[in-house]
Amino acid sequence: MAIDFQVLGKPQSDNALLVRIKTGQSIHRLLFDCGEGCLDEVDFSEVREIDHVFFSHLHMDHVAGFDRYFRCNYDRPGKPNSFWGPKGTDEILQNRFRGFLWNLHEGMKGHCLVHTIASEQIVCRRYELAETYARPHSQETQATSDLLLDHTSYQVRPLFLNHGTTSIGYIVHEKDRTNIDIERLRGLGLQPGPWLKHLRVDGEPDFELGPEAGGMRLGELAEKVLVTTPGDSVAYLTDFIANDEEIDILAKKLQGCRHLICESQYLSEDRELAVKNYHLTATESAKIAARAQVDDLILIHISTRYAESQWRGALQEAKAIFPKARFATHWQ
Ligand SMILES: [Zn+2]
Ligand SMILES: [Zn+2]
Repeated sequence: MAIDFQVLGKPQSDNALLVRIKTGQSIHRLLFDCGEGCLDEVDFSEVREIDHVFFSHLHMDHVAGFDRYFRCNYDRPGKPNSFWGPKGTDEILQNRFRGFLWNLHEGMKGHCLVHTIASEQIVCRRYELAETYARPHSQETQATSDLLLDHTSYQVRPLFLNHGTTSIGYIVHEKDRTNIDIERLRGLGLQPGPWLKHLRVDGEPDFELGPEAGGMRLGELAEKVLVTTPGDSVAYLTDFIANDEEIDILAKKLQGCRHLICESQYLSEDRELAVKNYHLTATESAKIAARAQVDDLILIHISTRYAESQWRGALQEAKAIFPKARFATHWQ
């Protein structure tokens, strides 16, 4: 598996998700939400390496841990701090950037890019540490499409959810990986070496590879030794309500996704409260997982109203519909 993910935060506390996409050459890190204490579980050096932070929405329990992220990264050189979230994310984050005294920052180069995702367009604004984040600078605007981010190794897609306000769910797909099967190569009597670099880029099938390829051209050898592994995928969905019809629509959008991390704020006996507060019950989360045919469902974001025996019951409730439901390992 080249995606690994870590649920952050404890049961009945704020939760977040850290996704690592491992290519073999590098690791890309995506953080989903930033509740209180969530980043305490991640080393400073790893927080420094986070590539993008995606907010579902900006309720306090999803942004209260932002200061730790910011403290680690406000002045990081070379890599901007990249944030994504629904409309209003830019104003709220600018208030966070400005919530400190800045008088010793001269010569520091840090900056932040804030992407606000509306149904029609994504607007990006840049904020500079050198200016104490005082004003936004317009960056590119792009039309909102099914695809938020198209990196060479992964893609991120949004799902718009109803939480009384917009909450955005995110699906991360690792791109399919193509590797050279060294055993197959040796089986052809060929030896690995730098010449194989030609196989790693799309080239003309007729390209002559030289004597190391035993007379084979690029297309022929690629067919014999390249193996494609389908990319892994994980979805993060939190703070929303969905009726039966909306669960069907969501499940269709999640088809092919392997792992689902989903809120289960309430037990179904408290469905009235769930509706009132725009949250799911464990039963509804399990229905989404079952209809989307994901490989596993990890329940997060459970209400503090329950005693331990009760919140553990959320898992039994979900398992009755989707047997592969589970909690994060550190919640056991
Ligand atoms: Zn919320
Ligand atoms: Zn919440």
